Amino acid sequence: MNNIFVYCEIEDGVLAEVSLELLTKGRKLADTLKCKLEAVVIGAGLQGIENQIFPFGVDILHLADDSRLYPYQTLPHTSIVVKLFEQEKPQIALMGATSIGRDLGPRVSSALHSGLTADCTSLEIGDHEDKKAGMHYKDLLFQIRPAFGGNIIATIINPDCRPQMATVREGVMKKEILDPDYKGEVRTIDVEKWVSSEDFVVSIIDRHIEQSKVNLKGAPIVIAGGYGMGSRENFNLLYDLAEVLGGEVGASRAAVDAGYASHERQIGQTGVTVRPKLYIACGISGQIQHRAGMEESSQIIAINTDPEAPINAVADYVITGDVAEIIPKMIKFYRKNTK
Ligand SMILES: Cc1cc2nc3c(=O)[nH]c(=O)nc-3n(C[C@H](O)[C@H](O)[C@H](O)COP(=O)(O)OP(=O)(O)OC[C@H]3O[C@@H](n4cnc5c(N)ncnc54)[C@H](O)[C@@H]3O)c2cc1C
Repeated sequence: MNNIFVYCEIEDGVLAEVSLELLTKGRKLADTLKCKLEAVVIGAGLQGIENQIFPFGVDILHLADDSRLYPYQTLPHTSIVVKLFEQEKPQIALMGATSIGRDLGPRVSSALHSGLTADCTSLEIGDHEDKKAGMHYKDLLFQIRPAFGGNIIATIINPDCRPQMATVREGVMKKEILDPDYKGEVRTIDVEKWVSSEDFVVSIIDRHIEQSKVNLKGAPIVIAGGYGMGSRENFNLLYDLAEVLGGEVGASRAAVDAGYASHERQIGQTGVTVRPKLYIACGISGQIQHRAGMEESSQIIAINTDPEAPINAVADYVITGDVAEIIPKMIKFYRKNTK
């Protein structure tokens, strides 16, 4: 049986969160399909990297270790992944919907004529009946994601071409160690054999990475504001509430578009995915694209003037009223109680 492959990204010797999330999902899919989970790591100075990977239930790790392979570069990484996939013929290949995955994924799928579904929010295994063609397909990868502006949740399948390729954004899937002592096999890739000197035509002389100052993913409490906050001044109240509760401030896309908050705070399909212990949605209607980024939160409180707002359907507690009245009351109450 052909296996499941996950392309893993590394930064300064540390596996990207999204790669670990995909390994977790990949392990579950491999168990369902009764096949092996394989990982691909391409970079430099990779000694010991397997210790970060095997605990997620990886059976085979393909390593391409060469000083010219880090930081990521399109041509050499594409050559390696394409040749590896041609040789190993995976049935499923997963990558992060990061700037690297978005660069690499389409190139690999185009070289292999495989097709690719970007930004999946869920991956499942299932059967498909094509009544017209009289065909029954078993154990396909259901690549599930919002489509047509989020108006439908589409299940996309790739019955004929392999690998079935998908990218997934960071935070969408859960990260879970399977067994800290899980042991797999390391296979070293012969870089000289698969990468031509032309692929190394670009050399990176310097790199500057600006770390995000907003840590929405790691915050246990997220207070998110929407267009219903009404103004930037009102939106700023959310920072006071976040301060007293020890949380971080998020925003809907409408709030970002209105200039109430910066894009790095956007939560949802085209923003960050969060699953905090507590999510307080203030003046957010709860369209599907927003819910895609927050509905896995443990507890959700919605504050909205509209008792029928869609956000209320996923909320554990609903406060019907004006944010401009309710939020100052909450700040006052929590300040009093935390003194
Ligand atoms: C391809 C695509 C991707 C998208 N990606 C994202 C995404 O990543 N994240 C995202 O958030 N959106 C995204 N959107 C946009 C999404 O469809 C919605 O337009 C957006 O989420 C609406 O933001 P909102 O709820 O803040 O604003 P609105 O829909 O305008 O809702 C405002 C809410 O505030 C309430 N309200 C008004 N005044 C008050 C008040 N004084 N007190 C309390 N409540 C009040 C209203 O009743 C209403 O429910 C995307 C759309 C598309 C097509």
